[in-house]
Amino acid sequence: MEIACLDLEGVLIPEIWIAFAEKTGIDALKATTRDIPDYDVLMKQRLGILNEHKLGLNEIQEVIATLSPLEGAPEFVDWLRERFQVVILSDTFYEFSQPLMRQLGFPTLLCHKLEVDGNGRVTDYKLRQANPKRQAIVALKSIYYRTIAAGDSYNDTTMLAEADAGILFKAPENVVAEFPQYPAVYSYEDLKKEFIKASVRDLSA
Ligand SMILES: [Mg+2]
Repeated sequence: MEIACLDLEGVLIPEIWIAFAEKTGIDALKATTRDIPDYDVLMKQRLGILNEHKLGLNEIQEVIATLSPLEGAPEFVDWLRERFQVVILSDTFYEFSQPLMRQLGFPTLLCHKLEVDGNGRVTDYKLRQANPKRQAIVALKSIYYRTIAAGDSYNDTTMLAEADAGILFKAPENVVAEFPQYPAVYSYEDLKKEFIKASVRDLSA
């Protein structure tokens, strides 16, 4: 049995915090782990900014509902689900991704969770587990699935390493250069070809 594991942001949908910052015009929300390497510090800062701007979960989801998946992503997900079991392994939050997942037909998603109070205020966040992408692959392998994983960035590389086959999709040059062991592709048509190549089944028909 084979299962396809996909990263979400940068692979099927835009980077949510960046797109959200652009929609709302709140530049301070554009900071990423490149600017603030400590994820906990970064998330506390983001939640503080949301509260400052009186953006609760409803307002956040309304903004995110105006975003779209990357062009061709829904069709790619449909194509993949006809040929593989598919699970999305992401460092986003369920509450953030919901409006975009709806546009992708709600494929299975393993990610993190926000804590929201009765007034819709985002008070905290809960990470699913440490090293979640790699651990998901370890778990799938323990029930004897052959895993093929695709992602775009550093936070995917432990997942690609653990998987039976790994693919870089729309990865920046430095990631491609640092991980030459993975094929690097930039379009959904080429990504389909890599999944077909990585499969032990004959999917060429
Ligand atoms: Mg990504």
